Amino acid sequence: MTAWISVLVHTPAHARMEPVLTYRHTEPLPNGTLVRVPLGKRETLGVVWHDAAAESSGELDGDKVRDIAGVLDTVAPLGDAWQQLMRFTAQYYQRSLGEVALAALPPQLRDLSPVQMHRRQRKSERAASKPSAVAEGPTESPAHVPTLTSEQASAVAEISAKEGPFLLFGATGSGKTEVYLHCVQSLLAQDPQAQALVMVPEINLTPQLEARFRERFAPLLGAQAVVSLHSGMTNPQRLAAWLAAHEGQARIVLGTRMAVFASMPHLRLIVVDEEHDPSYKSGEGARYSARDLAVYRGRLQNAKVVLGSATPSLESWHQSRPREDGGRYQRLLMPGRIGAQAQALPLVRRVDMKHQTRGAVFSVPLLDAIRACVARGEQSMVFLNRRGYAPVLHCADCGWKSECGHCSAYRVFHKLDRTLRCHHCGFTERVPRACPSCGNLDIAPLGKGTEQIEEQLEALLADVRRPDSASAEFPQGQAVRVARIDADSTRLKGSLQAQLAAVHAGDVDVLVGTQMIAKGHDFRRITLVAAINPDGALFSSDFRAPERLFSLLMQAAGRAGRDAALGKGSEVWIQTFEPAHPLYAALKQYDYPAFADSQLRERAQAGMPPFSHQALVRSEARSQEVAQAFLNAARSGALQDMAAWDGWDQVLAQVTLYSAVPMAIARVANVERAQMLVESPSRQALQRFLSGWQSVLHASRALPECKGLLRWAIDVDPLAI
Ligand code: ADP
Ligand code: ZN
Ligand code: ZN
Repeated sequence: MTAWISVLVHTPAHARMEPVLTYRHTEPLPNGTLVRVPLGKRETLGVVWHDAAAESSGELDGDKVRDIAGVLDTVAPLGDAWQQLMRFTAQYYQRSLGEVALAALPPQLRDLSPVQMHRRQRKSERAASKPSAVAEGPTESPAHVPTLTSEQASAVAEISAKEGPFLLFGATGSGKTEVYLHCVQSLLAQDPQAQALVMVPEINLTPQLEARFRERFAPLLGAQAVVSLHSGMTNPQRLAAWLAAHEGQARIVLGTRMAVFASMPHLRLIVVDEEHDPSYKSGEGARYSARDLAVYRGRLQNAKVVLGSATPSLESWHQSRPREDGGRYQRLLMPGRIGAQAQALPLVRRVDMKHQTRGAVFSVPLLDAIRACVARGEQSMVFLNRRGYAPVLHCADCGWKSECGHCSAYRVFHKLDRTLRCHHCGFTERVPRACPSCGNLDIAPLGKGTEQIEEQLEALLADVRRPDSASAEFPQGQAVRVARIDADSTRLKGSLQAQLAAVHAGDVDVLVGTQMIAKGHDFRRITLVAAINPDGALFSSDFRAPERLFSLLMQAAGRAGRDAALGKGSEVWIQTFEPAHPLYAALKQYDYPAFADSQLRERAQAGMPPFSHQALVRSEARSQEVAQAFLNAARSGALQDMAAWDGWDQVLAQVTLYSAVPMAIARVANVERAQMLVESPSRQALQRFLSGWQSVLHASRALPECKGLLRWAIDVDPLAI
């Protein structure tokens, strides 16, 4: 007997082939079955995809149809909900279904043959049935579970009683994680199959979360019940975790944005912690937002969705306005902080840099405060969002600057290894002895980076001695220890953890770093946090920059005063030329709602998201002319050709296409980049427009003026413009 099987594969985008191809097999196969199929000269993974809409049309030529090479029949077929999630993602983010679906599967699943897969599964089954693993099974003695505060209890009660989605708006330290743990626990207790997905922006930065979930649930459900899914895992680990989620043994999946695609047939709850974090948005391939997909997926699988943050994205904040005003999310408030942190929040102090020595990195009062902090034996954290020693090297004689030859950007001066490094293309050279253009020996750094902050602090604090550090060897006491954490200091695997451990152990007095150190870490002994130069975001052309700055500063402030004994005098310092700016005023009051409401008023007036919906088309070519020509051709194609299509004038009337412009950094690694913004007050209209526009974009590529176009891509709901 012969059966025709429709199989979804990842066909190369440039071939513009249908992603669902027909193969032959000896028997029918259920939808969602994983199969190996020949594609061109290679063999590849495919998913059986009998879908009326995608079914290839026309007569089948029996001689040309190829046989399915193998069936991964030890893996259960992927469910309808998972398939629908893939369909939606591909459609919404304007990518091919084959690419989206196959990329959502763990890499090893794509590579292993049925026999290898079977062997792999047998091995992990044997491992799971070993006595040692059984000993890790349920012990019926759950870890200590704190009694919920009344705020927490009412949040948990609302989540269990209502439908959601929920926006849990709670300060750092208000006990949001404890709410997640309770929701997961009550859900898993109700239904012996139920699964929960808990997402965090960067799992490497939050091993605490994993530890808390394991500690709570391993005793109840066994160690196998909690798995992680993130890019820091090896491929075999990822496959094993994915299979455990797919087969239902894993009851709790903790992961980064990629986990939103995990196959979880019994999914009943999705938590998105720090839901405002930009890393939920993918920067490559299908540029999906895992937070937004979580909300969609919740509806699809009838799972509750809880988004949590101390500084929600303005989109989520707006969605959670009162129902009568059109809000669709349920807002839950937890304003109080718990225990040690319940005392006053750190005092926010603004230093007016207009009254300080010009060019000084540290204002006098901040430096005094850091010295006093060290002298008390407490820790401070100083952050600046720029790594390296100085962003530019400069010759005062002839005006030479350390431009990158391949990018429209300056190379950054790294003093430690005496290099000039381009942070966009990676091009690195030794620092020249003299100005390459006029020979002047006196070339100087311009501006400041974390290396320089570290160096200056070491010098400025050289005379300070740590309290109680005097010994026979150091009769005067020991010097202050300054450490730096940024992408440069943490390049080696494991080095971030080691450096964080040193801070926790108290081996560091002053920690310098980029925003990496502001996020999530639970530093107990830090009582002073300082932002050296955060003003840039106030005047950025990116309309989301203030939102990101506010949330970063709130998060950084949350690092200070976490220890009860030390918390009282905690301070957050902002060095600024705009001390009266409303953003800093709201920060001083820790008043996120005031900040959000003023931002939303501005956005409403300017017709920006969330009051409009956007997509960006980006193009890359060897020349800026070609990159822009492509976008402009696609634009006139939309305005002329599409306007003639039947019924499309309605859609076009709701969509604005702006002109093509170079990207902020127009050239990277000798590739010129341009972009075009598409905007509409209606999400639906934008979606319809984009799906129709695809064919125009593809056709534009063939035009003579677009010769040399390298690639183009659509970014729906872009985060940076
Ligand atoms: P968030 O996730 O909002 O930052 P956490 O859930 O991590 O807050 O809680 C902050 C601290 O308070 C943690 O150390 C946590 O163990 C503790 N905590 C949370 N809820 C309670 C509670 N109900 N009783 C006592 N301690 C709690
Ligand atoms: Zn010069
Ligand atoms: Zn470069």
